[in-house]
This record gives sequence, structure tokens and C-alpha cells, in this order.
Amino acid sequence: MLRCEILSVGTELLLGDILDTNAQYLSVQLASMGIAVHRRSTVGDNAERLSREVRQALSRSDLVLLTGGLGPTADDITKEVCAEVMGFSLVRDEKALEMLRAFILKKYKNVPQTNLKQADVPDGGTVFYNDHGTAPGVAMERDGKCVVLMPGPPNEMRPMFEEKVKPFLLQKTGGVIVSHTVRTMGIGESAMAEAVADLLQGSNPTVAPYAKQGEALLRVTAHAENDAQAQRLTAPVLREIQSRLHTYIYGVDVDSIQQAVVEALIAKKLHVATAESCTAGYISKRLTEIAGASAVFDCGVVCYANAVKQKLLGVREETLQAHGAVSEETALEMAAGVRALGNADIGVSVTGVAGPGGSENKPAGCAYIGIADKDGVRAVRFETGRDDREYNRYVTASKALHLVWQSIQKY
Ligand code: ATP
Repeated sequence: MLRCEILSVGTELLLGDILDTNAQYLSVQLASMGIAVHRRSTVGDNAERLSREVRQALSRSDLVLLTGGLGPTADDITKEVCAEVMGFSLVRDEKALEMLRAFILKKYKNVPQTNLKQADVPDGGTVFYNDHGTAPGVAMERDGKCVVLMPGPPNEMRPMFEEKVKPFLLQKTGGVIVSHTVRTMGIGESAMAEAVADLLQGSNPTVAPYAKQGEALLRVTAHAENDAQAQRLTAPVLREIQSRLHTYIYGVDVDSIQQAVVEALIAKKLHVATAESCTAGYISKRLTEIAGASAVFDCGVVCYANAVKQKLLGVREETLQAHGAVSEETALEMAAGVRALGNADIGVSVTGVAGPGGSENKPAGCAYIGIADKDGVRAVRFETGRDDREYNRYVTASKALHLVWQSIQKY
């Protein structure tokens, strides 16, 4: 069994300015992985003392996990000190540099020179790229001893541990890691997290919420000696999530709503046709990304001009005159029209305001989505609440696909 120590680096921790939640989190995680934590220590941002602590920890344990001190400033010294103790030289990592640049340029105009050192990694070590910040994590191994460094901010350290360090450590303990992703729509991330708050406290499996454009995801991850054992751990938790969130879940381990829709259409031998105004073919594009879509996708009409809505889809002049092109009534007639045109089981339509701008009643991000199926025609008003053209088009198309998915469930 691996003997492990946790070393938290940061003068702020010693002064009591912040609470060492990283060590607590790691203790729980490591215990549930069967890795025995023998000691936890805290050290300030001082090279000499840190070096001494790391050497002592390595003399007692096989594995030393450190968090903090990977930042860009002069007092961030964890990597330099550990590389020296372990006998590694630091080299610039191009991928880490690229990720760091992209991360900083999302917010700022320039990349400060001081940040570049964060892309230095031990030559011959393992790099854990950081999807949530600028400093990659690293591991250095020598003579059966291993040192793992992760950034201090918990919102960077936790996903790095969960997604990258944990699998790395499990290789050493001979375990496997199994993950399932539950995908929901129509419920926000916080409401979803609240509905499963107790499950989020678990340590094996862990349940973690994520938000993705217009969707909320739950990842259920278990580790065990083998796949069958890991599946036995995740199964009851997945069942519990299903029972609590079933109205919002459209799939488990599917890549996207369009994949769920196409697979369900194929399974039930149903056909769909689309009529799109503000999404301009986004729904049909996403449906046809999925192999086999041609067996279930009849036609997609991109109709901006009213004349085309009338001619191809049979939208009535009076409807357009009385209610306008962006209206529930027009969406209803577009959906019924394209269902008939394609001779499909389900017709879906979108008419809305992608932005920028819009009016008080119909702001950017407001759309009417129509669904025509065996039960008749209905339309919903959908609002993204954002004045962002690309986001609105994508999320509105997602919502329309979700309504198609719900319609398929009735067949
Ligand atoms: P940065 O790039 O942000 O400087 P870093 O890896 O150098 O990251 P630190 O500078 O040591 O990390 O810490 C940054 C912040 O992360 C701290 O101000 C604190 O909010 C949080 N943090 C650091 N260590 C811990 C810890 N052990 N427990 C909880 N939070 C921590």
C-alpha cells in the first residue's frame, strides 16, 4: 500500500487567512482510493523550509502531494524547489504555454512575461494540463518515490485531481476508474445540483455537476479494483439520479442531444423534418452530424423571407400579417407545414430573434419553437436571456432538439 503525505504550501495558510480545504479534500479522495495518508503538513512560501519539508516527507513516504505555489510571482516556488529536490530540470512545455496563453487572452489583452514560467515543467515528469487556470500540475518520479504538484485554487485543483491525477495514481495502485455522464436539459445547473445535493457528498462514486451551453451534466465516477466492481458502485447512484431528475434527463453517456434524438428516431423508425428561421439550418446541421441521420431526417427548410414560409410551408398571409414572422402562430404553421412537406412523423420549427438587439416584447434570444406530431401542433416561447447571436442560435437549436426528443418519447 502506498504511504502518502499531503503538503499544503502558502503563507496565507499559516497566517490563518484561508482554510486548508485542499488537504481535507485530498484526504477524503485518497482514503477512498485505498491510499493511506500518514501525515499532513503546511509550509509557507519559503524555499529553504519547503525544501526541507519535501525531503523529510520523501524520507517517510512513497507519495507526496503538494498544492499551492504554482503561480507566476516570485514567492511561487513549489515547482522549482521540488524539481531541485527530485533532481529534475525544468523545460518549457509548448502545450502548457499554448493553453496558458489562450486562458489569459480570454480575459486580458496581453500575456504577462511573469506568467510564462508557469509553462515550465520537469523534463521527464508527467504533466497534468490545467483546463481551469494557468498553472499545469506535474508529477516527478524517482527511486520509487513520487511527488505530485497541483495549483492552490480549489476550483483548479479539484477537477485536475479528479480527471487527471486520480487516474495517474490509480495506475500505481492497480485500480480502474469508471465514469458515466448524465445529461439534462430544461433544468439549470444549480437546481440540478440542489436536487442531488446529498449525492454530491459521496466519495466513491463521486458525483460532480457541470454546466455546458444550455445543458447541465452530472458526472458519476467510481474507482475500484476492476470494471465490474466500479459498475456496481455507480449503478445505484445512477438509478437514484434517474428517479430524481427523470423529466430532465435525455441520456446517459450520449455525446449530445442530437445523438440522443437520432438514435431514438432510428430505434422507433420515426422521421423528422425541420423548418428554421433564426437558427438557419443549425438543427438540421446538428442532426446530420450523426451517422445514420439520413434514415430519419426527411428535409430541412431554411426560410427567412415570408414568401418562402408561405410557399413552401403553407404559412398563411393572415397569420404573418396579424402576428408577425416571430410569433407562436407562425411557429405552429411552420411546424405543421414542414411535417406535411417532408411527410414526417415530427415537424419542428423555429422562428425568433438571434440578436444583437430586438424589441421589448421580442428581445434577442427570444424564439418560438413549434412541434407537430401525432398529437397535433404546439409551440413554446423560449428565451435565452442573452444578447449573443451565436449563443442564442446554438442554445435555441438545442432546445428545439430537446422538444423533438420529448416528442419521440410519446411514440
Ligand atoms: P495562483 O496561480 O492562483 O497563484 P498557486 O498554485 O500559486 O495559484 P497559491 O498562490 O498558493 O496557489 O494560492 C492561490 C489561492 O488558492 C489562495 O489565495 C487560496 O484562495 C487558494 N488556496 C491555496 N491553497 C489552498 C488550500 N490548501 N486550501 C484552500 N484553498 C487554497
